[in-house]
This record gives sequence, C-alpha cells and structure tokens, in this order.
Amino acid sequence: MENCIFCRIISGEIPSLKVYEDAYCIAALDINPGSPGHTLIIPRVHRKDLLEMDEALAGKLMMTAREIGGREMERLGADGFNIVQNNGIAAGQTIPHFHIHVIPRYHGDGKIVAWEPTSPDIETLREFREKLC
Ligand code: 5GP
Ligand code: ZN
Repeated sequence: MENCIFCRIISGEIPSLKVYEDAYCIAALDINPGSPGHTLIIPRVHRKDLLEMDEALAGKLMMTAREIGGREMERLGADGFNIVQNNGIAAGQTIPHFHIHVIPRYHGDGKIVAWEPTSPDIETLREFREKLC
C-alpha cells in the first residue's frame, strides 16, 4: 500500500530503528514511546487490523512480541510489559496497518494503559454474554 506509513517503513523508504526482523515482521522503536523502549511489531504484509490476520501470522507476531517483551525486561530492566493492539479508530488505531505495541513498564511509571472500571449489574452482564456467546 503506497500511502501506508508502515509499508513504507517495511520497504525502507521511511527510516526506522529496528531491533529485530525476520521473514514475517520487523520490530522497531515507536517514534513517540509511551515508556522508554516502547517497540512496535509490524507484519511485512499489509493487513489493516486483527480481523485481516490469519492464525499463522498472528501467532508468529505474538511470539515476536514475547521475545521483545523478554528483552525489555532482561536488557532494559523493565519490571513488566504491556501488549497493546488497537483495532479501529474508536479503539485508538491511528495507523491502519496491523501492529502490536510492546510497552515496557517500570514500577511507579504511572498510567500508561488504563481504563475506568465500571460495575454493571448481573443482568446487564448476562445480556452481553448472550450476545457474545
Ligand atoms: P496506533 O495508535 O495505531 O495503535 O499506534 C501507532 C503508533 O505508531 C503510535 O504509537 C505512533 O507513535 C507510532 N508511529 C507513528 N508514525 C511512526 C513512524 O513514522 N515511525 C515509528 N517508528 N513509529 C510511528
Ligand atoms: Zn501497510
């Protein structure tokens, strides 16, 4: 996709700071990291979001996220890491080329990935179970 920023990063047209690459994906530092070491796992093929991914590719990329998360802990001294993967504008996806965020977390680093918990009653929860199962 010629106008896709991540396709242009994959082709080398736009520079990136790669930390890993294989036949399926690259992993590169996010240009606006949420915490030091925030890395993106990006497939070489253009897929808009998770709904366009197949099992084999999604599996490969998740294992790469695991590898990078492990490196963040071992080599950066992170205390944990978040895997974030946004699908759709409403979910915060700004680049419509699938990617997995691997965000190192450090004790006391504040709210990086968070939502406000709610307390629906059991009937409301049951309605949603009916719709989803
Ligand atoms: P999204 O909001 O779509 O889940 O995440 C897109 C991410 O891509 C953001 O965290 C943003 O900082 C990052 N990003 C946007 N443009 C570039 C770029 O040109 N290079 C790199 N390395 N990251 C980018
Ligand atoms: Zn693309």
